[in-house]
Amino acid sequence: MTDHLPTGTAPGLDELDRLLSSADVSLLPPAEADAFRLEHIRAAVAWHIERNERYARFCELRGFGVDRLKTVEDLAAVPLLPAALFKRGAHVVASRPADDAVLHTTSSGTQGTVSVVPRDDRTLNRFFATCGIGAYEVLGQQRSELRLFNLGPLEAGHLWIAYVMSGISLFTDGDCYVEDDTFLLDALLRDLTAHTGSPVMLVGPPPLLMDAAEAAREAGLRLHPDSLVATIGGWKRASGRSIPRAEFVGLMLDAFGLADAARVRDTFNMVELNTVMFECAHHRLHVPPWLYADAKDPRTLEPAEPGETGVLGFVDATPTSYPGFVLSDDFGRVDRGVECGCGRTGDVLHLERRINRVEGRGCALKLDRRTNR
Ligand SMILES: [Zn+2]
Repeated sequence: MTDHLPTGTAPGLDELDRLLSSADVSLLPPAEADAFRLEHIRAAVAWHIERNERYARFCELRGFGVDRLKTVEDLAAVPLLPAALFKRGAHVVASRPADDAVLHTTSSGTQGTVSVVPRDDRTLNRFFATCGIGAYEVLGQQRSELRLFNLGPLEAGHLWIAYVMSGISLFTDGDCYVEDDTFLLDALLRDLTAHTGSPVMLVGPPPLLMDAAEAAREAGLRLHPDSLVATIGGWKRASGRSIPRAEFVGLMLDAFGLADAARVRDTFNMVELNTVMFECAHHRLHVPPWLYADAKDPRTLEPAEPGETGVLGFVDATPTSYPGFVLSDDFGRVDRGVECGCGRTGDVLHLERRINRVEGRGCALKLDRRTNR
């Protein structure tokens, strides 16, 4: 492996594109997944050091060079950009893109709290490739023709969550039920009622899914038991209605008449991450082989002890127009070498809690000390 480690030149990156379009990528045996991870993240780090002066300087200040990356454990040393940096504008994080067509994708939020991420064509194509792998291999969309009910907007604009929603539903036909910020609940119920004979897929944020479930229960509407509910994002402005995940899953099963808890899945993404992670049927978020995740000690930002909670850091090999090396403001831990009943063995991400992004930016470390120690 070491004698053909890529140097950040285009051929090494094209190899990643080829692998992202091959079958069963999410099921690679652990040793192969780690080799893949090391090789492509190393290439990505070299790519951004070469094309992003700010990032190169940041690495230099930290005494970090790509030569440090000899084993997969070394990936914990990749310097991470704090998520808050993306609020200062795309120019602050941009690497020289592979092409000129750069889309400035944004998080939702009020003015001054919006994160902007510059994405070129290759970055977006890879994002959709990673969604396809997750939706097809992890969510299991290949097993049935699921009609899609998307509780999100039809027009993506620049809002990243809309890209994530369409990425999750790549393989399915269906309709959107949010228009001009209005949730079209009556239309959704009417259309669901017409599709109870075959499995459907509902994708949306938890508060809208809860509204839909409550309305379905009132109307006595039961879906086909093999239907799938995928949640995206958190509770955000509806945080007052937030309920524990197990309770939420129970509510979905009960209200929609689903066969079992494997029919309700969560996903994880943030605007700075070019990958969507999907829960498997055993409700585990498996870290895919183009991504490295770890928890950092909130006081030192050094890797947390195994099994310990910390600030989650992500090193994503897929973006070319910005470094996908991000320190999130989510707390959690990463368990290594987990053998899962779904057939995957490897790293599993546990989200302990999501910090409200408006309130949480910059206060993350304080909050962790207060609640966790
Ligand atoms: Zn699994």
